[in-house]
Amino acid sequence: MVTPFALGDVVTLRKQHPCGGFEWRIERLGADIGIRCLTCGHYLMLTRQRLERGVKHRESKAEPAQDEG
Ligand SMILES: [Zn+2]
Repeated sequence: MVTPFALGDVVTLRKQHPCGGFEWRIERLGADIGIRCLTCGHYLMLTRQRLERGVKHRESKAEPAQDEG
């Protein structure tokens, strides 16, 4: 199953960035996907497959915000 990532989506990764952040915003879609750390602003490129495996939660800007407690 292909996860429909979209530009502007905010994803929560399983692995914590060295800066302490978990949330990243998708800024580039293609053969590789570019994401930016919302905590420190670090930009990272990785393959779609690696991103899908690393994502714990995806929050699309196209959907209404959900309160998850
Ligand atoms: Zn960071």
